[in-house]
Amino acid sequence: YIKGTGKNSWQIFEENVEKRTFNDYELEQDLYFAVENNELDVYLQPIMKKDSPQTSYAEALVRWKHPVHGLIPPSAFIPIAEQSGFIHQIDEFVFKRTCEIIQRWKMDYQIDLTVSNNVSPKRFLRHSFITNVKNTLNHFQVDARNIIFEITETTLIHDPEIVHKTINDFRKLGIRFALDDFGTGYSSISHVSMFNIDFLKIDRQFIQDIHLNKRNQAILKGITNFTSELNIPMIAEGIETAEELEFLQKLNCAYFQGYYFSKPCDLETFKEFMLG
Ligand code: C2E
Ligand code: MG
Ligand code: MG
Ligand code: MG
Repeated sequence: YIKGTGKNSWQIFEENVEKRTFNDYELEQDLYFAVENNELDVYLQPIMKKDSPQTSYAEALVRWKHPVHGLIPPSAFIPIAEQSGFIHQIDEFVFKRTCEIIQRWKMDYQIDLTVSNNVSPKRFLRHSFITNVKNTLNHFQVDARNIIFEITETTLIHDPEIVHKTINDFRKLGIRFALDDFGTGYSSISHVSMFNIDFLKIDRQFIQDIHLNKRNQAILKGITNFTSELNIPMIAEGIETAEELEFLQKLNCAYFQGYYFSKPCDLETFKEFMLG
């Protein structure tokens, strides 16, 4: 899957090496039908806790199975969805599906899953968001403690009072927050202390080859210092090798996520990972 050379165009290389190109405009039109036509799916990627071989924690990641173009990654359609407004339907779909999964696992396997959802800034700032979330939690009889919302610093830079209030309203319900992609955006230490954040997710960019990269080691040590001072557990994203993991374990990182443990996978595969 390669970003095309032409502006806003994408090329998909399929098994038969046939090449097809389409553009963002076409994607936006197709997105309109994606939710209705059941083309969206939720994948889950396990998040491991330090010194524990098992987990009951995962991140939900949306997947789009386009009828013509095949699997389209979120990086190709989330920005378009954010611009066009479809992001509300997408995030709402993912949240409903998440609650449905949590409910099922509790009933079928007596497993208390905690699942994190990525929340787009637009959805976060919408007035109806909290009512919407409450209704869905009620509908599926899901405890708010089983939900973690992942937000990015793009969300935090909006009107601080509104953001502060929204986070706290959700935290009163029992929903926790993770600051996603830390290190890639504004990455202000004050963001972490100013808003009530429960977890800090370190972007893969800092994790890749961390055992070899002195500069990133220095940055990560700095982040560890203030997060442990503030009592905020760190989650390392995108761990691919044993060497990276080993280094992060020594750094007192609390949670680990990455292909090294498991790729994001469909429910069947996730079930196998979890239940063996
Ligand atoms: P993110 O929230 O930072 O999610 C982590 C991304 O890293 C995922 O990409 C995941 O598949 C990938 N990843 C995890 N471990 C590894 C690894 O070891 N190596 C590598 N190379 N990658 C790894 P994905 O699923 O393509 O999603 C990309 C981004 O799209 C997400 O980044 C998130 O910002 C956004 N996104 C995904 N699902 C949703 C959603 O339901 N709603 C919203 N608003 N955004 C979403
Ligand atoms: Mg995330
Ligand atoms: Mg991230
Ligand atoms: Mg990201």
